[in-house]
Amino acid sequence: MNFLQTSIEFLKGVGPQRAELLKSELDIHTYEDLLNHFPFRYIDRSQYHTVAELPQVDTAVQLRGYIIEVKESGVGKRRKLTAKFEDHTGMIELIWFQGIKWILPALKKGVELQVYGKPKLFGKSWNIPHPEVTEFSKVKQEVGLQPVYSTTEKLTDKGLHSKGIEKLLNSLIEQLPILPETLPAQLLNHLRLMDRRTALIQIHQPAGEEQAIKARGRLKFEELFYLQMELLVRKQLSVQKTKGFIFPDVGNLFTDFYNRGLPFDLTGAQKRVLKEIRKDFLNGHHMNRLLQGDVGAGKTLVALLTALMGIGNGFQAALIAPTEILATQHFETIRELLKDFPVKTALLTGSSKTKERRILHEELLSGEIHLLIGTHALLENTVQFQNLGIVIIDEQHRFGVAQRAKMRRKNTTPPHVLIMTATPIPRTLAMTFYGDLDVSVIDELPPGRKPITTVHRMENSRLQVFGFLKEEINKGRQVYIVYPLINESETLDFNNLMDGYEAISRAFPLPAYRVSMVHGKLKPEEKEFEMQRFVKGETQIMVATTVIEVGVNVPNASVMIIESAERFGLSQLHQLRGRVGRGAEQSYCILMTGNKLSKETKKRLETMVRTNDGFEIAEVDLQLRGPGDLLGTQQSGALNLKIADLAKDAQIVVRAREEARSILEKDPNLELPEHAVVRTILTTILKKKPNWGKIA
Ligand code: ADP
Ligand code: MG
Repeated sequence: MNFLQTSIEFLKGVGPQRAELLKSELDIHTYEDLLNHFPFRYIDRSQYHTVAELPQVDTAVQLRGYIIEVKESGVGKRRKLTAKFEDHTGMIELIWFQGIKWILPALKKGVELQVYGKPKLFGKSWNIPHPEVTEFSKVKQEVGLQPVYSTTEKLTDKGLHSKGIEKLLNSLIEQLPILPETLPAQLLNHLRLMDRRTALIQIHQPAGEEQAIKARGRLKFEELFYLQMELLVRKQLSVQKTKGFIFPDVGNLFTDFYNRGLPFDLTGAQKRVLKEIRKDFLNGHHMNRLLQGDVGAGKTLVALLTALMGIGNGFQAALIAPTEILATQHFETIRELLKDFPVKTALLTGSSKTKERRILHEELLSGEIHLLIGTHALLENTVQFQNLGIVIIDEQHRFGVAQRAKMRRKNTTPPHVLIMTATPIPRTLAMTFYGDLDVSVIDELPPGRKPITTVHRMENSRLQVFGFLKEEINKGRQVYIVYPLINESETLDFNNLMDGYEAISRAFPLPAYRVSMVHGKLKPEEKEFEMQRFVKGETQIMVATTVIEVGVNVPNASVMIIESAERFGLSQLHQLRGRVGRGAEQSYCILMTGNKLSKETKKRLETMVRTNDGFEIAEVDLQLRGPGDLLGTQQSGALNLKIADLAKDAQIVVRAREEARSILEKDPNLELPEHAVVRTILTTILKKKPNWGKIA
């Protein structure tokens, strides 16, 4: 019998009752589960405070002294235990409402005790609710760091507070046999990682801070290494499975357009990405590529050139945008670029007329239309192609998995898929969550862009801000003013927007100034009409909600004012800012806020003011919000990481990825004897987990 697989109830001090609770409350079934219940922090137990000092401390404290009185009162839910505790500087009350029968025996009078807990001020006097109490002589004084474990109320009730769990671990570790290593020896040496047994002991009973850190490092690495291994192997398997069209060469159309149709030279990054895509078209596998590029990085041109490779090889192409405005804008831009080339483009949106649609459907089936641009309308089953070869999806985050799957089914062999997103995902997250996609990055803006100047202003500067707006408008520029209508149904927000609109209309009166307004309560036609007035330059100010967040291109707009900026997330602020800075003029982003700002809000605003780099912003966002909020908890919850943290352990993620990749490069089927351990563990993992990683 494998020691680690021993059922937890056989551990000394557990028994059937506690075992049930450990299972239901903490999912601890075996010795191994308990060993993997890692402390979430340590307390430095070498430090003692005195009672007299307590009013100056706002952390948990450790005291030495004696119990002078114990009192029980109340019954049932109101049961309470209080103890007077004294050291040479004063007296404080200790209080318990739970687990009383476990704590009572520890409150011995006349014996020096160590008390640990967080003091609270009740009325005028200090007390410590639910402290830990240990006989001073039994405290291992040489151990400076004491582990703190997460537990639950029910467990605490059965004596399994942090300290109780620590005791169980001590007894488990006492019997711990030699454990098989779970990482290849060569990795351990090369990365100087602690061996597994030492790491498991040191994480629970660290000999010092350095050992605690090393132990965590080793266990985090192990967790991330197997995660990356799993992703890479799954990807290997899925690539082998899905065949894709081969486009043998780039085609005359591409070459011709490249030579005489491009309005400007491609940036180095655009060229590199095109090469990456080109490779995918040659290898016979289905392309599933994510293209990340900051707002304004020039993704549209890459999309067009990619489509042309497909069209030149006799296939049809589709470009899908999340909104009608965007689809129309893409259609117009691309039609203009292609006007001297033999490519028939068409637009399909929700407002395409039935009769137009009928013709369009026919022309798609006959292959007359080469490039179809549109919205979700394109996904409908009635839209069928003669030979769809490549699908490009703009602004990935508005598209669900099911919708991508629909596009893939529009040909017998799935068409290649390129997903473009302007919301950069930090590298470590992309590696993990899009592990089965290939990722390309446009990390360079077209030349000549002036970085957007961003400032933070409070309400008392509003007059100056409006004065500045007038100057810009008088120079012929246009301006966005965005209000937080995060939830379009919220009346309060809606009123703010209306008040704002009125205030702006008063400050910028007709006939000199014209103001547009766009929000979610407008009908699509009304929205479109207002948008178009602004796009054509008929109005100079666009008052809007975040509906304008995605993709809209008005190069003449040079100022973005974001009202109540404290209410927006970082990536949203960055997206909004990306609406300006698209022309040759210096552009500005003004973040308006109230006076009371939380620390986190300040960090967000400060980051926006400091940098225009979307990737840097995404990193800060990840630090502030954590992966759950960034990607949706469902997705990150699926990972169920025990010790590693994708936000905080970025370096380890990258390392683990590199090591996993290099092992697979050398030994794709993990057949070498030194990789036997990896193979065994990975096989178990692949069997156990459903394939959550597949997103496209
Ligand atoms: P996004 O990546 O946000 O979709 P766009 O494709 O809309 O960016 O490009 C933003 C602007 O940059 C457009 O006006 C486009 O014509 C211009 N642009 C794209 N590539 C280049 C380039 N290589 N050199 C100069 N301007 C470019
Ligand atoms: Mg775009």
